[in-house]
Amino acid sequence: MMIEPDVCILGAGPGGVAAALQLDRLGVDCLLIDKAVFPRDKVCGDAISGKTVWAFNRIDEAIFKEFRGLDEKKINCWGISFIFSNGRDLSVPYKPNLSALDLSVEKPVGYVSKRIAFDNFLVEQVKKSTHIQLLENVNYTDIREEADGIHLSGKDAEDIKAKVVIVANGALSQVARKLGGLQIEKKHHCGAIRAYMKNVKGMNEYNFIELHFLKEFMPGYLWIFPLPNGDANVGAGMRSDLLGKKKVNLKAALDRLIKEHPRFKDRFAEAEYDGPVQGFPLPLGSKKRKISGNRFLLVGDAASLIDPLTGEGIGNAATSGFLAARHVAEALHQNEFSANTFKKYDAEVYKYLWKELQISTQLQRAFLYPWLVTLTSSIALRNQRFTEIITSMFTDVDVRKKLLSPAFYFRLLLNR
Ligand SMILES: Cc1cc2nc3c(=O)[nH]c(=O)nc-3n(C[C@H](O)[C@H](O)[C@H](O)COP(=O)(O)OP(=O)(O)OC[C@H]3O[C@@H](n4cnc5c(N)ncnc54)[C@H](O)[C@@H]3O)c2cc1C
Repeated sequence: MMIEPDVCILGAGPGGVAAALQLDRLGVDCLLIDKAVFPRDKVCGDAISGKTVWAFNRIDEAIFKEFRGLDEKKINCWGISFIFSNGRDLSVPYKPNLSALDLSVEKPVGYVSKRIAFDNFLVEQVKKSTHIQLLENVNYTDIREEADGIHLSGKDAEDIKAKVVIVANGALSQVARKLGGLQIEKKHHCGAIRAYMKNVKGMNEYNFIELHFLKEFMPGYLWIFPLPNGDANVGAGMRSDLLGKKKVNLKAALDRLIKEHPRFKDRFAEAEYDGPVQGFPLPLGSKKRKISGNRFLLVGDAASLIDPLTGEGIGNAATSGFLAARHVAEALHQNEFSANTFKKYDAEVYKYLWKELQISTQLQRAFLYPWLVTLTSSIALRNQRFTEIITSMFTDVDVRKKLLSPAFYFRLLLNR
């Protein structure tokens, strides 16, 4: 037996689901397959940024309208705290004057939601749709391009032949290596661990996410993100080449820091791990790659699109997912699936994401110099304008660009 869909999407994470939902809304049938059974966990910081909301809103505003109502599955996040190695805290609300706002009616900019809940919410959207067939618990290990289509086969699974495949099976994608030739390059790759914890004290009353820049994790950070029921997602990450060079064992370092570091030891005095500490890689978008070819398009982590500064990848996965779907719909219309046709997909993905990825790459490299971060933070804390700029840093690329200009720091020094 052979299944013969026009479009096969490999992986039902946010990238694959965004592609499937966009195809559905365009009236195009597709087959979405995942080796897992949902609900399933995914090692992540669980922070869902404004960009993720924006990308899904491009597909259908009803999706996040429904998510906003699910209070047991997420918390609304109203700001971000950067805490520098000298202990200085730059806390930036996503909206000005939070205490004066009625937060029960305001639309939050970001959320934190365990991926087991968020990804399952997305898969539930898939199940409600008309044009998507979902296959879970199937592991396709062989994929090859032949003249009549892309063929997938695996143990205990029916063979698939598709006109085109959207590859969205994450950071460990062998398919991206085989079809796209993408390799792991440690300079463009990050190692990170995540722990779920109970009884962490001192969380922000407006659910700010916390990024702690520490000498031990430069350039990288330790994060503490609030979760529903007073739980927390705690983790740390660093570029893979530097992890090796500095011989950092992330699990041991995280455990030691939360128990001994003066900044954390009281807050974690009664904290307990809730499940195992788990690691997972982040393929960074600090370099442009070829992300499509004959009959295939790579999406999300399979296309190495994670922000090299913030580690945010869900929004870029969703953005590349909806773009891939639009290019595939057009290709079906033209009955044309060549590498040349899909070049336009690469161009469009990088048109949306490259400027931001490039700026984040440059800032990440600047973070190699802790003295620069310390100096900037000391000055910044005295400067209202810097706070305003950093408020929009995670949403406004042009503002982020200013952070790379020497003139910006000169003006800061002069407090202008
Ligand atoms: C420690 C850590 C912290 C992070 N924190 C954040 C954060 O706070 N915010 C943020 O935005 N991003 C964060 N990221 C990045 C984010 O997790 C990813 O960028 C995002 O999950 C990418 O989505 P995706 O759909 O491309 O892949 P994934 O979410 O990895 O989904 C891939 C899917 O493919 C399936 N699959 C794999 N192989 C196969 C196969 N052979 N056949 C069928 N299915 C397969 C998997 O089961 C999975 O469901 C973090 C990453 C890590 C590792």
